[in-house]
Amino acid sequence: MGDRVLAALLYGQEDLRLEQVPDPTPAEGEVVIRVAAATTCGTDLKVWRRGGHAKMLKPPTLFGHEVAGEIVALGHGVRGWRMGDRVVANNSAPCLDCFFCHKQEYSLCSNLIFNNGTFAEYLKIPAAIVQQNLLPIPADLPAAWAAMTEPLACVLHGVDRSNVKAGDRVVVIGDGAIGLMFVAVLAAGNGQWRSQAGSPFNQRPSEIFLFGGSDQRLTIGQHLGASQIFNHRQIDDMPTLVEALTDSWGADIVIEATGVPSVWETAVACARPGATVNLFGGCPRNSHITVNTELLHYSELTLKGVFHNTPHHVRQALALIASGTIALEQLISADQPLSQLEQVFQDMKARKVIKVSIQP
Ligand SMILES: [Zn+2]
Ligand SMILES: [Zn+2]
Repeated sequence: MGDRVLAALLYGQEDLRLEQVPDPTPAEGEVVIRVAAATTCGTDLKVWRRGGHAKMLKPPTLFGHEVAGEIVALGHGVRGWRMGDRVVANNSAPCLDCFFCHKQEYSLCSNLIFNNGTFAEYLKIPAAIVQQNLLPIPADLPAAWAAMTEPLACVLHGVDRSNVKAGDRVVVIGDGAIGLMFVAVLAAGNGQWRSQAGSPFNQRPSEIFLFGGSDQRLTIGQHLGASQIFNHRQIDDMPTLVEALTDSWGADIVIEATGVPSVWETAVACARPGATVNLFGGCPRNSHITVNTELLHYSELTLKGVFHNTPHHVRQALALIASGTIALEQLISADQPLSQLEQVFQDMKARKVIKVSIQP
């Protein structure tokens, strides 16, 4: 390693710059990894377009959060890891000591620390993440696949909270990487990996209806297990169509994965009485939705917000990827060097690519 290394910094709205930054040195309990693959994600696109993130980062800041790499420096007191170990590092870790952590609601941790900066040659991993959310990658698993552990962990968390039962009819709204991962996980049902990873979720829905805006992405959704796919541009009214698909009841489970307030309202309108609506896509700050109180009450709807992941789901996600049960590599549209990062974000904005693996 030299004195200075290349990293992407986010300065504001659509203002991403590649700069030479000081070579990261690990403090006590920290490790530094050489980035092998950093996958882009819808959250990165949102953060780039909005110029920040309420919980995760404030510019100017190192940028990117899905990563796999190789340990190149160990801080004082780090045990159990060696130079050259291939690892995946989650972008956060709970403190294990706050009000929420004591209730095992780790995604709500008051002191959740976030690590950003995967779009770089090297990345420093904070001690809390080293302790709780740094995992070894099986030897034969490509780094780019392992890098998708973080978003998949969020999706597994989302599925666990969605109360899916065998035979349910599920609507997934959104054909971004997250919506497509929901389809893949739901369709995989109670595969072998679940019992290995100890998941309480083991029910496969009978039908998965995927709604999106890109025929190409919807086709991938079909390969991943969607029973039927619909381009919302060719539909007059989504709730009416869902009604027709479900003997006029509405969906048992609705998963919203777009982060658009009006789509949250559409998601609620697609639900049958007694349904669970998982409002998974994070909306812009200070946005609101309107919910009909009569509908919410008399139809006994459960509106569930689900945020981020937990250490349990991080482990489960890597195990699922390593099992080869779901073909997540279909979500990686291209491999690109760090120098192409700006173009990659322009391509994501134009929806030309789903995820890109940045390999510095
Ligand atoms: Zn992500
Ligand atoms: Zn905590």
